[in-house]
Amino acid sequence: MTPGIERATTGLADPATIKTGLAAAATINAIRSCVHCGICLPACPTYRVLGEEMDSPRGRVYLMRAVAEGRLDVTETYTHHLDLCLGCRACETACPAGVPFGSLLETARADIERHGARPLRRRLLEAFLFGVFPHPHRLAIVLGLLRRYRRWGIQALVRRSGLLRRFPRLAAMDALLQDVPRTDAALPEFLAARGRTLGRVALLTGCVQRHLFADVNRDTMRLLSLAGWDVVAPRGQGCCGALELHAGRLEAFRARARALAAAFPADVDWVVTNAAGCGSALRDYGHWVGEDAAASRVAARTRDVTELLAEADLPLGSLPLTATYHDPCHLAHGQRVRSAPRALLGRIPDLRLVPLADSELCCGSAGVFNLLEPEMADRLLALKIARIAETGARTVVTGNPGCLMQIARGARERGLDLAVVHPVTLLARAVRWEDR
Ligand code: SF4
Ligand code: SF4
Repeated sequence: MTPGIERATTGLADPATIKTGLAAAATINAIRSCVHCGICLPACPTYRVLGEEMDSPRGRVYLMRAVAEGRLDVTETYTHHLDLCLGCRACETACPAGVPFGSLLETARADIERHGARPLRRRLLEAFLFGVFPHPHRLAIVLGLLRRYRRWGIQALVRRSGLLRRFPRLAAMDALLQDVPRTDAALPEFLAARGRTLGRVALLTGCVQRHLFADVNRDTMRLLSLAGWDVVAPRGQGCCGALELHAGRLEAFRARARALAAAFPADVDWVVTNAAGCGSALRDYGHWVGEDAAASRVAARTRDVTELLAEADLPLGSLPLTATYHDPCHLAHGQRVRSAPRALLGRIPDLRLVPLADSELCCGSAGVFNLLEPEMADRLLALKIARIAETGARTVVTGNPGCLMQIARGARERGLDLAVVHPVTLLARAVRWEDR
């Protein structure tokens, strides 16, 4: 039993003194809906790795309940077990009682934010990450510096010096930076439907996506246009706030959500995303943002790009390769989108899609989890790469920028010859563009 839990058994606090957001009536009812059956345990990546009850969904719900009922303070131990959670929501998929683990975790982390029970080093790193990632302009500046870091040979020098061994979190950041492609500023703000028009959609261009996977955004627009949609990509759009939501920085998240929702035209049929983490956050706007018509509209109209393209009649040519598909957590568990990407890939002539064991097990990326908790992230990545290697496929398809970078890094470090691509990338390669 952990020290935090021992202290938890010393008696009930006066409910009048409970200040935690977990103690709100609806939240505590959700916590109490856990019947401790343990069905979620095998689905949980951290439980699979550590085998510790307190690093399982059931254990974490137990901890949250203790805090909500005033039997446990927000201690460093409590914080550690919740910080080690990836927020992957695989437990939600597995849970027969419908425990809304994702929103409970976000509420618990908001309490942790308020109580400041994290070590200084971690808080400084978080301040840097949250000061950069949700700000597209700052992110562009940092990526520009990183390009120079690589191009001028500083990265090679730092790696040779062995300095990074003393700073695992910096090492994790460095390891992801094999390629920092140039930002592509050429994404049009509007692309008309080719042929018959089905309606109008807005594209979320994302933060990491727009800077590191601009080709995915461009292919998304072209494919949607080919499928019959007028596509708008408003220039003024900012970050969706996903990272802040999952970290429990709820006020910052709400402000970003309202601003982003206002940036999209009200008359679009769908808001389309090609980044699973962002899509999951957009669909949660209704739950978290409150009375805001634009935010509620965005939540109701958000679709992953594969959902729209799966219904389209696209002229596809041969793409002879063997591929496997990794489910991004926030697409499979957060948005319950599993069949659309597979159906799309299955329609490409001569593409052989082979199953991936544990395809829904997190790869360790989980937003900025791989930068904050590199040891657990590495262990999960090793599991993922081993499963991928078993398939014999030399192409892995997945629809989230974090997973793309994490799996590519794992393959690179293990010398595995593997292409890691977004579904729209393969689809754009297979389309016979001249036929329409
Ligand atoms: S969100 Fe993922 S890591 Fe966290 S408890 Fe659930 S299954 Fe485990
Ligand atoms: S499956 Fe659901 S009800 Fe069962 S222990 Fe896990 S969270 Fe609780």
